[in-house]
Amino acid sequence: MSTDRITETELILPSLYLMSLNYGTISTSELIQKLRDVMKPTGEDVAILHGRNDDKFSQKVRNLVAHRTFERFDYAKYDNGYISITEAGKCHLKSNKDILKYLLVNDFTYPDLTSNLQKIEANNDKRKIEAFDENEIIHEGRKKLSETATYERSKLLREYAIKYYTKNGKISCHCCSFNFEDFYGSEIGKGFIEIHHTKPIFKYEDEDLENILKDAVKNLIPVCSNCHRMIHRNWNKPIEIKYLIENIESNGNYNKPN
Ligand SMILES: [Zn+2]
Ligand SMILES: [Zn+2]
Repeated sequence: MSTDRITETELILPSLYLMSLNYGTISTSELIQKLRDVMKPTGEDVAILHGRNDDKFSQKVRNLVAHRTFERFDYAKYDNGYISITEAGKCHLKSNKDILKYLLVNDFTYPDLTSNLQKIEANNDKRKIEAFDENEIIHEGRKKLSETATYERSKLLREYAIKYYTKNGKISCHCCSFNFEDFYGSEIGKGFIEIHHTKPIFKYEDEDLENILKDAVKNLIPVCSNCHRMIHRNWNKPIEIKYLIENIESNGNYNKPN
């Protein structure tokens, strides 16, 4: 198997997802355009190929179809310019839907997205992978019972991060230094914070949760609700932490508490 084919597997799940959104069938050209929207390719992948009005990303999608990768897994069928999801494809998508959703709605970089999607497809022993979805935390008041397991994992991660970032009994926004306890008083504000993910965090069902949390905490940023909303103001184009801080500082309207 060539390296080319291995790297194409990262596009399998997002492609199946786009087919399902499109009533099960999508044209190759539409797939290229929509995959570009959700994957946000960067770097070498968007460089125009020499002498052609095309880039590496488009070529990768076309290769995925031409190499019959979908057919090899029996996930989709190609016919006359259109690709249609199969029952096996629907099944594969369904069992990885939470993880895919988690990957696509956060501000993970293109290399983070691709390497993790490859990891999912390479998971040949089919161990169940679980995601820590920060959106489950943000909307924790509206949790549905059916998602209790994800909720419990996210709660654990949140508690771990809060413990890690609490200094002298207080946890403040990493971007603007806002502290809920200082502002609202300890009765209602103590310990309140939101957690932003900068890299995907997964867990295989048999992995040790404690070790994962220890490693994952570096990729979690405590932020106040305002900063978190600014970061995710545009759902598919979140702002980088560094850029948000630069803007807060250069705007000069916020007085950081000492
Ligand atoms: Zn803030
Ligand atoms: Zn976030």
